[in-house]
Amino acid sequence: MTSTTTAFGTAADLLAAIGDDAGRAITDPATGQEVGKAPERTAADLDAAVTAARAAQPAWAALSHTERSDYLNRAADAIEASAEALAELLSREQGKPLNGPNARFEVGACAAWLRTTASLELAPEVLVQDGETRAELHYRPLGVVGAIGPWNWPMMITVWQVAPALRMGNTVVVKPSEYTPLSVLALGAVINEVLPADVLTVVSGGREVGEALSGHPGIDKVMFTGSTATGKAIIRSSADTVKRLTLELGGNDAGIVLPDADPKAIAEGLFWGAFINTGQTCAALKRLYVHEDIYDDVCTALTEVAQQMPMGNGLEEQNVLGPLQNKAQYDIVASLVQAAKDAGGRVLVGGEPAAEQAGYFYPTTLVADLDNDNPLVTTEQFGPALPIVKYADVDDAVAMANGLDVGLGASVWSADAAAAREVAGRIEAGTVWINKHGEVNPLVPFGGAKQSGYGLEFGVEGLKALGNPQVISG
Ligand code: NAD
Repeated sequence: MTSTTTAFGTAADLLAAIGDDAGRAITDPATGQEVGKAPERTAADLDAAVTAARAAQPAWAALSHTERSDYLNRAADAIEASAEALAELLSREQGKPLNGPNARFEVGACAAWLRTTASLELAPEVLVQDGETRAELHYRPLGVVGAIGPWNWPMMITVWQVAPALRMGNTVVVKPSEYTPLSVLALGAVINEVLPADVLTVVSGGREVGEALSGHPGIDKVMFTGSTATGKAIIRSSADTVKRLTLELGGNDAGIVLPDADPKAIAEGLFWGAFINTGQTCAALKRLYVHEDIYDDVCTALTEVAQQMPMGNGLEEQNVLGPLQNKAQYDIVASLVQAAKDAGGRVLVGGEPAAEQAGYFYPTTLVADLDNDNPLVTTEQFGPALPIVKYADVDDAVAMANGLDVGLGASVWSADAAAAREVAGRIEAGTVWINKHGEVNPLVPFGGAKQSGYGLEFGVEGLKALGNPQVISG
């Protein structure tokens, strides 16, 4: 299994490999300038990709786990060889800065997820062995997996979906977000330097391509990450073919600060929990509940951290916060902050976007003294604006945290780990972090409660989700 790989030196090199002069112009959200042109594929193109993926699947499935893991490790090598070019393209298309927990971090995570997924063990389980019966549980390949992704972490989420699917012997057809197709096409081109033909195909196009994928008879499972509304549409369009689904949907994560927490010590963790990727993160802290005893001190400490974090064009090394990725998201954030101000919210920092600007920059914003039913609290803002709500009784804080119909992540902040764990156990969310928020790990299963979705990604549980369970009993 040797092949020659090309290290791409710059985003321009990647664009030369993937671009399509007749495609749709994709613009940089920081400047409004064109980044490149993405091919605009149709449902007919999707059919062709699915047919090719089906044809390639038996040979891929016939490889051993060790052989497929070897491919994943070599894909990680290829990503690392082109890491700077991938990060540059990601920064220009998505808007996220190169530095901070942003573009370079995302590209690094792609390689790390591939390597960890390659290293996992999934041996058949012996369920019964009683002298009469031996029952074993195996996980067989599903066939062809469709992967539909969002625009916020386009490369990393593609790898989250693709790595376990490939490892388990499936071939994959990816439909990237129409906002960030170039990043995913580039990632696919780099990974495809090492994979056999048609094992991984990226089909860029609009929502109709995603819809066609989720109803396609040649697709056995859909891995979907995106909004709850689209997740519901996918459940409907996948019904006739009884597709397996993993749905990682929207969230509105609560953070609860207990009265014994040290405001200065937790301020930076709170900040990055909320503002990672300029707030455009599924499991970011999106509403903060602070006990009245330390409320003012937390507001002050968080404001001090927020004021130090530079926002600007992602290609400038000093920046750690960037623009919103698109105008629609900018408008959502602006209107939610306006609603918060109209209701008497106290703006601690930000809240006033510049009148004239080339990009979709919304300033880092903290709004305190909000009621729990304010739209900035109850709606997923998906941007750099954090609402802060004061509470007196921790039971009320838990009730407020649990008061929405989504439950992706949550966090509890306290100097007392046991007290924090007790509160964590009462929160309806797929993950509850203590004294941090949003940290994901390729060995630790991740998924949502309530309308934040179903199915788990990562770790051995994530591998199982990309296999067909089969019992052999005799
Ligand atoms: P979105 O739902 O608008 O789009 C996601 C993808 O679905 C895109 O590729 C789009 O083309 C496709 N699509 C749209 N309509 C479709 C349909 N009817 N059938 C099939 N595919 C269709 O989401 P977005 O705006 O790109 O992403 C932001 C949302 O994603 C937020 O709500 C965020 O919380 C969520 N998200 C969740 C996770 C998680 O792990 N739970 C991670 C990242 C983002």
